[in-house]
Amino acid sequence: MSDFRLSRGDRLVLATHNAGKLAEFQDMLKDFGLDIVSAGELGLDEPEETGTSFIENARLKAHAAARATGTVALSDDSGISVDALDGAPGVYTADWAGVPRNFLNAMQRVEDLLAEKGATEPDQRRARFNAVLCLALPDGRDMIFEGIVPGTLVWPPRGDLGHGYDPVFLPDGHQKTFGEMTPEQKHSWAPGKEGLSHRARAFAKFVKAVL
Ligand code: IMP
Repeated sequence: MSDFRLSRGDRLVLATHNAGKLAEFQDMLKDFGLDIVSAGELGLDEPEETGTSFIENARLKAHAAARATGTVALSDDSGISVDALDGAPGVYTADWAGVPRNFLNAMQRVEDLLAEKGATEPDQRRARFNAVLCLALPDGRDMIFEGIVPGTLVWPPRGDLGHGYDPVFLPDGHQKTFGEMTPEQKHSWAPGKEGLSHRARAFAKFVKAVL
C-alpha cells in the first residue's frame, strides 16, 4: 500500500492510552493539519498486547482502533532492550512497571539485574529504545515504520523531563539522559531530519512515506 497518503484535514486515530506517548505524537504531528483524536478520548478498549514482538503488538493496537472506528489509525509499540539481559524487558517494558505503573521500580529492577551481573562499565550496560509505528486502514492493510536509538544505562536516574525509562537512558554521543532533555532535544525532529529518539526516527520514516 505504498500509494497511501494522508492529507490536511484527514482524521487520524492515535491508538494509544499512554499519556506520555500521546503528548509526543501530538507534538510531532502538530504542523500537518490532521484531525487527530486518541483512542483514549474515543473510549476505545485497549487491546491485550499478546504479541511477542514490537511489530506484532503495534499491529494489534492499530488494527483494533481502525476496525472499531472505521478510520485510519496509528499505533506505537515501544520499549527498551538491554543487551546484558538478553534484550529484556523488550516487549514487556511497560509490564515491568507493574500496575499502577511505577517506573522508578522498573528502572530499579533493571539496575538490580545489572548489579547481579556486575555490569558497572558502560560497555556492559548497552541498551536501545525501539519504536514501531503501525498505520492501519479499516480495510486491513497496514504500513510499518521502525526507529532505534542505541545508548547506555546510567544509575542513579537523572532528570525529570521525560517519562518511563528516560532518566536512565544516555543516548550515544550525548551527555544528557533523555530525562534531562527537553522534548525538542530528545526528539530532535523536524521535517526532513532523521531525529534522535526512537519514536522520532520511526516518525521521520512515517512522514516521508505518508504525509
Ligand atoms: P507499550 O508500547 O505501550 O507497550 O509501552 C512501552 C513502554 O516502553 C512504555 O510504557 C515506557 O515505559 C517505555 N518507553 C517507550 N518509549 C519510551 C521513551 O521514549 N522514554 C521512556 N520510556 C519509554
